[in-house]
Amino acid sequence: MCSGRVDLAFVLRAFANGMDGVFVGGCRLNECNYITHGNYHALNMVLLCKKILERMGLNPQRLRIEFMSAAEGILFAEAMNDFGKKLRELGPLGKGEGLSESDLSSKIQEATTLVPYIKMAKSEKLASHLSKEEGYDELFTREEVDALFREVVSYHIAPDKCQACMICFKKCPVEAIVGGKNQIHVIDQEKCIKCGTCFDACPPRFAAVQKISGEPAPPPIPEEERMIVRKNKEK
Ligand code: SF4
Ligand code: SF4
Repeated sequence: MCSGRVDLAFVLRAFANGMDGVFVGGCRLNECNYITHGNYHALNMVLLCKKILERMGLNPQRLRIEFMSAAEGILFAEAMNDFGKKLRELGPLGKGEGLSESDLSSKIQEATTLVPYIKMAKSEKLASHLSKEEGYDELFTREEVDALFREVVSYHIAPDKCQACMICFKKCPVEAIVGGKNQIHVIDQEKCIKCGTCFDACPPRFAAVQKISGEPAPPPIPEEERMIVRKNKEK
């Protein structure tokens, strides 16, 4: 119902499914019936996503947000006609920008994987209320978005420190941690959404979860080397 529910992941999914453009329609700014002002969230998400599209080599005009009331049918029709015309000018997604299908798909996939991290890293700006349209283009800069992708954090469990207490395993919201009783835990980087919960949850006396920025996490240790042999059990 509320444009604030339109997640960055939904927009990227539409593009991943081959849509040439995405239109988000919201209530007029400052006319939200609730205290949430979700339309500001939608606006900020769109502004961020436009910079992400630019970074991927896609034309940011493929994403548009307009604010209008439910009584403004003519305005809505005009906006949609204009958007349709713009998309026809831009051509099919990716082809219009000279990207190959595989290039396009890997770029969308890369951005989609980072959505939870991006939302956490930019949560403050995503919740802001811009008062003037002139500030739209400066809310998120191209450099800022480049840095987000370049300096993205990863989490890694140091095999020599992990004591298999299973706390992180139980707390990970997406079951990205592979482990078990007396098993050194490892993080499945494909599943990890970089929420940092394991980093905060690992007891300081173990401090086994490491935060890595700007470089990929080391590969997980082989499965056959994950068993922890406790000294008192050796006897
Ligand atoms: S960072 Fe979050 S998602 Fe990734 S392994 Fe740790 S708890 Fe799971
Ligand atoms: S919380 Fe720390 S010590 Fe415990 S299983 Fe996870 S990484 Fe290992």
